[in-house]
Amino acid sequence: MKSALTVKYAINKIIFSKAAVDKVSEEIGKYSDVETGGVLFGMIKDGVGHVLKSTDAGPKAIRERFDFKCDPDYIDMLIDMEYANSNGTSQYLGEWHSHPQVIPAPSDVDLNSLDEIASSSESLALLVIVGFLGYSKDLFTDQTIAIIKFKKEDNFYALPFELEECQ
Ligand SMILES: [Zn+2]
Repeated sequence: MKSALTVKYAINKIIFSKAAVDKVSEEIGKYSDVETGGVLFGMIKDGVGHVLKSTDAGPKAIRERFDFKCDPDYIDMLIDMEYANSNGTSQYLGEWHSHPQVIPAPSDVDLNSLDEIASSSESLALLVIVGFLGYSKDLFTDQTIAIIKFKKEDNFYALPFELEECQ
C-alpha cells in the first residue's frame, strides 16, 4: 500500500466531509438490505483524522446480509489513483461498511480485519461502521461508529466524530 505521509499525531477525533457522508449514504441507498462498504481517504492533521472521501466497493465485492468484502483489485486501483491525483496528500485511512443494525457494533471478524490493516499500515487504521436499518443521511451521526487501531497498541478505540461544518 502506498503511503507517503508519516502519521505524526495520534488521532482523537474524526471529521467527515460532506462528500464522504454523501457517498456512504448513496451506497447504502443502492444496497439497502445487504452489507456494503468501501475505503476511506483523507489526512491526519493536528490530532484530527479528516475523512475527505469514501468510495464504493467495486464490481467484484461480496455483499450479503451478514458479510461484506471489497473487490481487492478495484481497491488497489483506487488507492493508486488517489495517491497520484492528490500528489500523495490524501492517504488511505481505512475502510467503512454497513451493518444490518441501527446502532452498529463491530464483529470479531471486523476487529481482526482492522487489526490486520493496522499491522500493514504505517501507524494506524480506521474502521467506520454504519447501521443500515432505517438509515437515512440525516441519521449518519446517530447510526455510525468509528474505531481506530494503532499499529503498536493492542487496544481498539471508539473515536468521537463530527461532520464537516458548513453542510
Ligand atoms: Zn462488520
